[in-house]
Amino acid sequence: MRLPSLLLALLIVAQPVFSDTVTKPIKQASSAKEEASAPPKEEPKSVKDAPVKESKAEAAARKKEAQAADELALKIAERLAAIRKDKEEVAKPVVRPPIRPYVAPSKKVSGVDDKSKKTAKHWSYEGEEGPLAWGKLNPANIKCDLGERQSPIDIRDGIKVELDTLNFDYKPSQFQVIDTGHTIQVNLSAGNYLNVSGKNFELNQLHFHRPSEERINGKGFEMVAHLVHKDRDAKLAVVAVLLELGDAHPVIQSIWNNLPLEKNELVKALKNIDLTQLLPKRHDYYTYMGSLTTPPCSEGVLWMVMKEPVQISADQAAIFARLYPHNARPIQKTSGRIIKESL
Ligand SMILES: [Zn+2]
Repeated sequence: MRLPSLLLALLIVAQPVFSDTVTKPIKQASSAKEEASAPPKEEPKSVKDAPVKESKAEAAARKKEAQAADELALKIAERLAAIRKDKEEVAKPVVRPPIRPYVAPSKKVSGVDDKSKKTAKHWSYEGEEGPLAWGKLNPANIKCDLGERQSPIDIRDGIKVELDTLNFDYKPSQFQVIDTGHTIQVNLSAGNYLNVSGKNFELNQLHFHRPSEERINGKGFEMVAHLVHKDRDAKLAVVAVLLELGDAHPVIQSIWNNLPLEKNELVKALKNIDLTQLLPKRHDYYTYMGSLTTPPCSEGVLWMVMKEPVQISADQAAIFARLYPHNARPIQKTSGRIIKESL
């Protein structure tokens, strides 16, 4: 009878733990620590201290049973402690201080780099942490090595068809500039949309690569701007605007005017930016399915590469080059993917 009664007693002790977990997770969080250490020690002790008045003949069997009871009690106590610990861990985030506001937007908006930053594994564009090593830096980056639909690609042999019109619904917007350590990125306030094929994508951020990551029939460009959009299902659509040397561009200038002095420091621009002005006049484009061009190289990204390049001045390109002379992932295999292009 010892074991069942012991079990019953322990279950009664355990009861508040389960009910607390459901009803008062936050309020109980502070006392959870104390609870975790005290009762488990006492419970097995009470079993040991229980009076034993059996005859010598029964002693061995009783001792064995007591030992078993002690072991069971210890296991239950450990389980209780584990449950309380879980409860603590669940409750902890509630009392944690909020993430510093200037960090949050960049992580949230970047999308591209979010997961790799969380894993705290450094990656770069050259050397031991360069593109060929990305897949090995973290298991989350497996697609960088094994993906079959990776970006960028050399765009050629496109199927010329009448593509859906890109309906840009951009408006003058507030923006912030951040040096992520991999590029210069512009985070935009809400309200800029791209509607294509009946799907609505919101523009989150744009960033730059030098030289352009994508090539057109083998030809590279001075730089490229990637405008990263996301739909309500978190599917990504990236519009690439190729940048070639020519006249200075006012939008690029207003971004450069707000370059941060330090990495990961978000500079809030005082003037608005209208990214309609960064788009080429003609909206012809190439489109294919690809990936993020940075770790974790996630696939399922809809790419739309504008055919007509936009001009920036040599001085404007030189400013970016001082910060990032080369931040472009090498060309990836097309692997039989279909590329379509406007007629
Ligand atoms: Zn990019």
